[in-house]
Amino acid sequence: MALLCFLMGCCLLVSPLTRADTINIPAFAQGSVGTHTQYFRERDGVLVLSEAQQRFAAGPLTTGSSNSISLGISVDPVWMTFTVSNTAQFAKAYRLSVETPWIDYIDTWLIQDGIVKKRITGGDAYAFDKRPMAYRYYAFEYAYPPGLTQVIMRVETKGPMALPVQFNSVNHAIARDINSGYQYGALYGIMVALALYNLVLYFFVRRREYGLYGLYLLGFVINSLSYTGQLHTIITYDFGAYFQDWLDIFLMITYSVAGLHFARTLLQTKDYAPVLDKIVLRTTLYIPLGMLAGFAFNHLFFSMVLAFLLNTCFVVLFIAMGVKALQAKKPFALIFILSSVTAAICIAVSTLAVAGILVPYNDYTFKAIEVGMTFEAILLASILGSQFRVAQVDKIMAQKYACTDPLTQLNNRRGFQELTSPIVERIINTKADVSVVLIDIDLFKNINDVYGHQVGDEVLKKVAAAIKLACRKQDVCARWGGEEFIVFLPNSSQSVAVEQAEKVRRAIEVTHFSDLNIALSLTASLGVAGTHKAKFQQQEIQANSIEALINHADKALYDAKQSGKNRVIVAN
Ligand code: GH3
Ligand code: MG
Ligand code: MG
Repeated sequence: MALLCFLMGCCLLVSPLTRADTINIPAFAQGSVGTHTQYFRERDGVLVLSEAQQRFAAGPLTTGSSNSISLGISVDPVWMTFTVSNTAQFAKAYRLSVETPWIDYIDTWLIQDGIVKKRITGGDAYAFDKRPMAYRYYAFEYAYPPGLTQVIMRVETKGPMALPVQFNSVNHAIARDINSGYQYGALYGIMVALALYNLVLYFFVRRREYGLYGLYLLGFVINSLSYTGQLHTIITYDFGAYFQDWLDIFLMITYSVAGLHFARTLLQTKDYAPVLDKIVLRTTLYIPLGMLAGFAFNHLFFSMVLAFLLNTCFVVLFIAMGVKALQAKKPFALIFILSSVTAAICIAVSTLAVAGILVPYNDYTFKAIEVGMTFEAILLASILGSQFRVAQVDKIMAQKYACTDPLTQLNNRRGFQELTSPIVERIINTKADVSVVLIDIDLFKNINDVYGHQVGDEVLKKVAAAIKLACRKQDVCARWGGEEFIVFLPNSSQSVAVEQAEKVRRAIEVTHFSDLNIALSLTASLGVAGTHKAKFQQQEIQANSIEALINHADKALYDAKQSGKNRVIVAN
């Protein structure tokens, strides 16, 4: 029986033209060899090529079912084979690549007529200049002569055993490189630009979420550069077998931790979901500590499982925080959920594709993670942008409140000062006229005494409204204190101001308070001070700004009170 199997196996090996594991070139110009591949795992000690060949002949073998042969983390080495059949009359150059950059050791034998024509050794265990091609993953080019070439590969790695084997004519391989360069360039470009912009914002605005967001994006880009092997092409090309594995998982910490802290800061999770907030804090502390412990004991598998756990927690907690924020009716919660769910789906797509579950492995599914993160980055940037706007509106509102008297809604002293000082400056420069009118309600204390403080307040509101109504558009009215008001009249000489003051006095006099259910007639005394043909006390105004004018008006007001109230008196 075993012999029969062996013979059948031999038959299958020597007559591969009819079999699914054969790739016919030049008809096959580019693509994955996943479904053409047969493989077995090296479970009982290291095999040499001849032993593996016997095993390929004897079986049992597994046939690849997708573009990537994905077997999990820290699994036994894998032996794979497929056959290349060149039906052309000349040799054809193809590039074979295993596009998983973290694979430690890969050996390939090219066998023609039972003779090993070439052995190509590589993997990230080898320094860059020792690799078959100075590439971010294992790749080599070979001119396949007419006829059959059996390709046998042995792959060994401590990280995830995901083996997307690409077989492309050299022209297609180059085009693929260029495309891939542009795609990564665009995705990284967007993320790096957003990251730097937010770090600059953080530097100036000092809001934590901007800094964390910048770190999150930068962390993700560096992580992606590392696990796609691009980082190691440039900087760490001869750091040894497990360097990339360790770096990959430690870079996962940076962006997961920064991302989670960004989310809890942005959504202020602590205020309405303290338990979830605590879980986030502990996740970002204990899992990385556990990974460090794994590093201390040189236990890559342990740390790697924790890293994937951290990554899963990252996605789940992100969405959980979004949901809690939505329940708490936090602004931006919906956009946050939309962006994090999209990113989570994309991360899941890439992860499942690499793991060979449900999702087919191809260039799009493998890069889904970068696309999802870029999309998320843009949505989150829009949140920070709107938050910035809200902050600005808040600031304007706060400024307005600081300058407004809450009872009468007129300017308070501060508002008056802020509004008038630029006008005064202009008036001094252009030598125009300016006046002020001080208004004090007569015997107001009586109103409080008779009708109570609340009615007093209502009366003050009505008087304020009457003053405002009697003033012109360019005049600045303010509550000066208690039952005293002030009007600033730009470009108005003292005589114009007197007319205006008289208008105000009459407006107060005729104000009705019937809706307060009190039969009240109210008067006020007014003091006016101003310039005439820009000469009157110009020097004084210049020296003490508008205060001098107000002092003069105050004296006039005192005179108005002294001489019987309910009148307008001009400063002399
Ligand atoms: P005169 O004609 O001399 O100005 O007499 P008066 O009673 O108006 O002046 P006085 O300065 O003696 O009293 C002002 C009163 O205004 C005293 C104070 O209780 C009252 N007052 C000040 N601010 C408010 C306020 O916001 N609400 C109310 N209801 N009363 C106020
Ligand atoms: Mg008073
Ligand atoms: Mg008064």
